[in-house]
Amino acid sequence: MGSTFFHASLEYAQQLDREDSLRRFREEFYLRPDTIYMDGNSLGLLSKRAEKTLLESLEDWKHYGIDGWTNGTHPWFFLSEKLGESIAPLIGASPDEVIVTGSTTVNLHQLTATFYKPKGEQTKILADELTFPTDLYALQSHLRTRGYDPDEHLICVKSRDGRLIEEEDIIEEMTDEVALIILPTVLYRSGQILDIKRLTAEAHKRNILIGFDACHSIGAIPHSFSEWDLDFAYWCNYKYLNGGPGAVGGLYVNRRHFGTSPGLAGWFGSRKDKQFDLEQTLTHTESAGAYQIGTPHVLSVAPLIGSLEIFAEAGIENIRRKSLAINQYFMDLIEHELADLGYVIGNPRLDHQRGGHVSLEHKEAARICKALKENGVIPDFRSPNIIRLAPVALYTSYEDVWKVVQTLKVIIEEKQYEKFSTGREIVA
Ligand SMILES: *Cc1c(COP(=O)(O)O)cnc(C)c1O
Repeated sequence: MGSTFFHASLEYAQQLDREDSLRRFREEFYLRPDTIYMDGNSLGLLSKRAEKTLLESLEDWKHYGIDGWTNGTHPWFFLSEKLGESIAPLIGASPDEVIVTGSTTVNLHQLTATFYKPKGEQTKILADELTFPTDLYALQSHLRTRGYDPDEHLICVKSRDGRLIEEEDIIEEMTDEVALIILPTVLYRSGQILDIKRLTAEAHKRNILIGFDACHSIGAIPHSFSEWDLDFAYWCNYKYLNGGPGAVGGLYVNRRHFGTSPGLAGWFGSRKDKQFDLEQTLTHTESAGAYQIGTPHVLSVAPLIGSLEIFAEAGIENIRRKSLAINQYFMDLIEHELADLGYVIGNPRLDHQRGGHVSLEHKEAARICKALKENGVIPDFRSPNIIRLAPVALYTSYEDVWKVVQTLKVIIEEKQYEKFSTGREIVA
């Protein structure tokens, strides 16, 4: 297929759907017939397999009571480790470097408590101004607890255009005063991918530890954490991984750091064979499991068991291939159909720099999002002017994308958005 072979027709979208090798996975998800769901980058949809493993876990509780820790379909005592093994191929790490535990923010707290070790002049933390705010809040609070003023000790790399962060600008801020760097793998608004390998190498040249927030890349993009050699990472499992609202998150710790005592210790960080000795001193395990805190939230992790089976079957490389193709189709169609209607594509255009969603900018974004919902399309809005739209490889069809673009068109052409108030909803 040559690059000039692009049609704006519905028939062409349907042809792409027929050629889609991941097409069969769409039937595994609960899609509403009257709705096109474009928000899988905020909360992934429920699959039948995730539902099944959640119900099985309830059955295990019903049947086994306390013995569900070691019996049943999915024994709870080793579940976090087992799920870590299933996630390892998605991030290119060894199974013992990954654990399913906590949440994004809690895991960042744990990892900062563990790896932020200010000494001498090396006391600052480096982040970026476009990162998801919870990361900044967490880092600011750590600085305060250690007696440092966050205004001085948290350095936020500035964006030149409000959308992207230049890697050169990050590297320039890696001074002798920096002890720890926290960056996103993919920026949540513009979908920009940062070059983790390069940034890690630059940080390590300067003896700085570096960790990444992988919320917007896990399940959408393959990673090679072992090869890239970053120190740690953390993420949520409810976005592209479809683990359900409030699903338990995950973390990765490079095996080089096994043995480092957890900053926030708890009995689930124990060596498994010693945990029920209930001694007064923790003997933490020599794996990512050491950074667990308390009892796992079994019912909030159970859907992930089924969901990860789908990822193992589909293959993360295939998922990325379709994600790139369907997002490219989306952008081509936007440019073809929506020219002169005020829409601007704000995400990077090169494959190696773009994540799983299109970041569509419009000065009427807030009202357009409300009109989209009225038309049965679920986007999300990021103030002040971004409409995030994620065609998700496992369940979004090319026909869906075609319909979304037609909807974006009529909303402006018919001035439908004028019916709505400006400003965001309580949950945007
Ligand atoms: C979604 C998201 C979070 C959310 O953190 P929680 O602790 O799960 O609420 C954090 N960081 C980024 C980059 C995100 O996209």
